[in-house]
Amino acid sequence: MKTTIALALTPAAMAGFLEGLGEPPYRADQVLDWLYRKQAYNFSDMTNLPQGLREKLQKEAKTGFLELVKQQVSDDGTIKLLFALGDGESVETVALPYRTGHSVCVSTQVGCKMGCLFCASGMPGFVRNLTAAEIMAQVLQVKKLLAAEGHALKSMVLMGTGEPLDNWAALLPFLNAVHDPARLGMSLRHVTISTSGVAPRILDLAKLGWPLTLSVSLHAPNDKLRGKIMPVNRKYPLSVLLPACWEFAEITGRRVTFEYLLIDSLNDGENQARELSGLLRGMQCHVNLIPLNAVPELPFTPSKDAAVLRFQEILRQNKINVTVRRKLGADIAAACGQLRNTFRGSEQDGCRRDKRQGKSQGKK
Ligand code: SAH
Ligand code: SF4
Repeated sequence: MKTTIALALTPAAMAGFLEGLGEPPYRADQVLDWLYRKQAYNFSDMTNLPQGLREKLQKEAKTGFLELVKQQVSDDGTIKLLFALGDGESVETVALPYRTGHSVCVSTQVGCKMGCLFCASGMPGFVRNLTAAEIMAQVLQVKKLLAAEGHALKSMVLMGTGEPLDNWAALLPFLNAVHDPARLGMSLRHVTISTSGVAPRILDLAKLGWPLTLSVSLHAPNDKLRGKIMPVNRKYPLSVLLPACWEFAEITGRRVTFEYLLIDSLNDGENQARELSGLLRGMQCHVNLIPLNAVPELPFTPSKDAAVLRFQEILRQNKINVTVRRKLGADIAAACGQLRNTFRGSEQDGCRRDKRQGKSQGKK
């Protein structure tokens, strides 16, 4: 029989589960309160439940919280956490100390199928989707850690390892739990979903009409270059991706953010800045320029400061809203694109890289 994971249950499912154990429905509120407000990692800590029920729960279910394996703190206050999953896999999660309040950056998959050439997260290839409960556990465990230091969790970004729109089956129940007042109770206005551009799912997301922020990883001003560095563009080229983004903006009333990674001598030229301006002209959007974060094994270097400034200036001259993103956590490899599964050690990293280059050595 499959073990029940408490963090996977809706309030109605929790009430049903407890009813099956012979408990009245109000117990569901108590258990949810422990899970989401007090973040009790074990049923035995849920002290207002009768002892007998706590024992029954320990036998019949798991809370769904994750085992913290490693914690690193950056000079700038960014915290990177490595969690072990039940099946021996692991994920990384980052707590970000923004000036406007603390944020959590969660992973949605172990590895990633998308294979963007500049990203460490995709290097192992795809291992598996995370469940909604595994994504929520990352949020709650960071929330608890921040609370212990007197900070509130204000927002979240789905920008860790994985492509959130490639894990739709977990994304929807997760987002439902996020804005459900009986569970996390965080407004979707504080949630940003970052995607490499899975256009049909952007349209599905738009249809929900939720006030989320959609952040699209653009990184190139034309299909030729984008298709080279982001294989997803061969399936959903700009002529398909951009209309989906505009539809999202129209239905939700939320301005779309475009992330544009600046890579030395690849996509950071003046002509490319002009081409990008043309592509986005007249659109309600915001461009976030991100100087590349170094991934030692990959042959890309960040743009020089002068190129970043010039790129920004050209976008501004063309009346595009633009900012340069502040880099956080790079000293502990917690910045965008640097997350990877470090749990299994460096020996396998080599195998994964070979696999991506099409030189699989037959070892999984
Ligand atoms: N898969 C989603 C979300 C996870 S990646 C996506 O691609 O949007 C989060 C962000 O990190 C994306 O904007 C991605 O393009 C960016 N990124 C990947 N590698 C990077 C690197 N080496 N330096 C800086 N940003 C990087
Ligand atoms: Fe996957 Fe995003 Fe990395 Fe691309 S940038 S490989 S989509 S995690």
